[in-house]
Amino acid sequence: MSSVRPGATRACPHCQVTILASANVCPACKHHLRFDSAALEQAQPTAVVPLKVEGTIRYPELEGAWEYTVVVTVHNDKGEEIRRQVIDVGAMRRGDERRFTLSVEANEVRAGRRGVRH
Ligand SMILES: [Zn+2]
Repeated sequence: MSSVRPGATRACPHCQVTILASANVCPACKHHLRFDSAALEQAQPTAVVPLKVEGTIRYPELEGAWEYTVVVTVHNDKGEEIRRQVIDVGAMRRGDERRFTLSVEANEVRAGRRGVRH
């Protein structure tokens, strides 16, 4: 069992993106992060995807172009913005199409005594 605090983060050594300290595989660059036997023996936690949104857009005109910015924001239960990040920028011209997918992946954290409710 990992002793890492739920929500603890670190930088991926390959791409420097901030990821969960408990991650065995970087969700950004897909590099494996742990090769020690303990990590390999440990069963992979069951990942769930409580949110996934996907959509495709196509540039509708015959001339000109769209410049686009992909922005993801995260709000807490008080409606306060706790994260706002530009994921990508680009341009679309006649016939161009882009598909965007937002997914929230979650893993159950095995609670220690502190997290157990009776
Ligand atoms: Zn990475």
